[in-house]
Amino acid sequence: MITSATDQAPAGTEPPSETGEALQLDRPRLGVDTDTEVCVVGAGLAGLTVARELARNGTSVVVLEGRHVGWNASGHNLGAVMPGYAVAVEELIARVGVEDTSELWALSQQGADYVRATAVEACPQTVRAGGALDVSTVDAGDRLIGRLQTLSENFGADVEGWQVERVRDTLKTDRYFHALHFPGAFQLDPRCYLDGLARLAEQAGVRIFEDTPVVSIDHGGIRKRIVTPSARLRASHVVLAGNLHIGAPALRLAGTLLPVWRYAALTAPLGDRLDEVIGFRGSVSDDNGIDHFRIVGDNRLMWSSPETTWQANPEKFGKAIRRRIRTVFPQLADVGIENVWSAAFGRTVHGMPQIGQLRPGLWVASGFGRQGLNTTAAAGELIAKAILERDDRWRLFSPFELVWTGGTAGRAVGHAANVLSRQTAALAGTFSRLRERAAVRERDREMARARRLAAIKVRSAEMMRRSSALQRSSRQDSL
Ligand SMILES: Cc1cc2nc3c(=O)[nH]c(=O)nc-3n(C[C@H](O)[C@H](O)[C@H](O)COP(=O)(O)OP(=O)(O)OC[C@H]3O[C@@H](n4cnc5c(N)ncnc54)[C@H](O)[C@@H]3O)c2cc1C
Repeated sequence: MITSATDQAPAGTEPPSETGEALQLDRPRLGVDTDTEVCVVGAGLAGLTVARELARNGTSVVVLEGRHVGWNASGHNLGAVMPGYAVAVEELIARVGVEDTSELWALSQQGADYVRATAVEACPQTVRAGGALDVSTVDAGDRLIGRLQTLSENFGADVEGWQVERVRDTLKTDRYFHALHFPGAFQLDPRCYLDGLARLAEQAGVRIFEDTPVVSIDHGGIRKRIVTPSARLRASHVVLAGNLHIGAPALRLAGTLLPVWRYAALTAPLGDRLDEVIGFRGSVSDDNGIDHFRIVGDNRLMWSSPETTWQANPEKFGKAIRRRIRTVFPQLADVGIENVWSAAFGRTVHGMPQIGQLRPGLWVASGFGRQGLNTTAAAGELIAKAILERDDRWRLFSPFELVWTGGTAGRAVGHAANVLSRQTAALAGTFSRLRERAAVRERDREMARARRLAAIKVRSAEMMRRSSALQRSSRQDSL
C-alpha cells in the first residue's frame, strides 16, 4: 500500500446516505499489465470527472484507486454545491486581476452546472434546490456590498445581498450579520452523486480498478510507466488526482498540500423547532469557513466544523460539534448527535486548487480544499479539454504555483495558524456583537432620554397651562 504520513483510512462512521443507496464497492484490482491512452490516479470526484470526460470523447482511460471509489473526502462531504473557490474573490482580484478572476469565476460556475447536469442524469432524486447562504460573522456590510457588486456586476453571478434583519429573520441567531445568497446553489447526497458519476464514467468506457495503489511513476518518456503492486500500466498521459494521499509517486506534490481533517455530524431529528430556528432549506456557511450546515431529511441538521491537521477519532468531535450548534443556536442546546465522521482534504498555501500540466503528459488536479464539488468538476472538464483539444485555459491556474507547505513543521504551523484564525474570527465576531449590543444600549439610552425629555415637556406644558389658568382665575377674582 501507499506509504505516507497521511495514509490512514478516514476513521469513524460513514455519513448517512440520504437516498438509502449503498456505494458499489466491488471493482477489481489491476491484475495484468495494460496499455491505455490516459491513466488517472485516484477515484475521487476529480479523477472520476476527468476520466468520464475523456472517455465520453473516445479516449481509452484507466482509473487506478488505492482503496475504493470515494474512500476519502469525495464520499464524506456535505454535498453543498455553489460557484466560487475557498478564496475570497477580492483576494483573487488582488492576485490575478479582474479579468482573469472573472474567467476563474465562470469556470467555477461551469463546474457547479456540470455537477447539476450529472446529478440529474445519475441520481435525480438527490438534487435539492434551496440555494446557499454565505453569512458574515462580523458587521461588515460595506465589504459585502463591494463583493456583491463585483460578483453580480463584473462577473454576472446569480447572487443577492441580504440585510442583517432578513438574515436574522431566517436564522434565529445574533451571530450572523449580512449574507450573500446564491439562489442557484443546490444540495445533493454526496455518496449517491459519486456512485452515479463512477457509473456514468464506466458506461462511457472508463475502466476503474480498486485496491490498486500507484507506487511509482516513470514520467520521463512519451509513454509513462505506472507501477502498482500487482501490475504495470503504460499511458501517454497521467492525471494525478490523488489529493493529499498521493504519496510515493508524487512526494513533492504531496508536500504542497497541508492535510486538514474536517469533522461532520448528523443530529437526531429535531422536529418542528428546527424550522422555527432555521428557516432556510439550503446550505449555510460562514465567511470564515468555521461552520457549515444544512437541514437534511426528517428535520435533522448536518453540520461540519472542527478541523485538525492530524487524523483523530471523529467520535471525539461529536461534543465539539454539539457545542458549535449550541453556540450559534442556543435554542438547539440539547441536540442529540447520531453520527460523526471525518475526511481529509488538501489545502494549498494560496487556497486555490492545483490544476494544470506539470510536464508534458503529466497533469495534476488536486488541492480543492473545502469547496471541492464544483471545482473538481471544473478541473475534470478543463484537463479533459486540454488533453483532447489542447485547450489551455488551465493556465489561468498557473499563478497559483506549487508551494511547499513546510512538511511536519509546516503542518504544526498550519494547525496553529488555523486555530489562530478561528480564534481571531471568533474574537472579531464577539467584538462585532459587543459593538452591536453597545449600539443598541446607546440607542435605548437615547430613546429613554428622548422619552424623559418629552415627558418633561409635557409636564412643563401642563404646569404652564395650570399656572396660566391660575393667573386667569386670580385676575377674574381681583376684578
Ligand atoms: C467533512 C467535509 C465536508 C465537505 N463538504 C463539502 C461541501 O459541502 N461542498 C464542497 O464543494 N466541498 C466539500 N468538501 C470538500 C470536497 O469533498 C473535496 O474537496 C473533494 O472531495 C476532493 O476530491 P478529490 O477527488 O480531489 O480527492 P479525494 O476525495 O481525496 O480522492 C482522491 C482519491 O485518490 C486516491 N489515491 C490517492 N493516492 C493514490 C495513489 N497513489 N494510488 C491510487 N489511488 C490514490 C485516494 O484513495 C482517494 O480515493 C468537504 C470536505 C470534507 C472533508
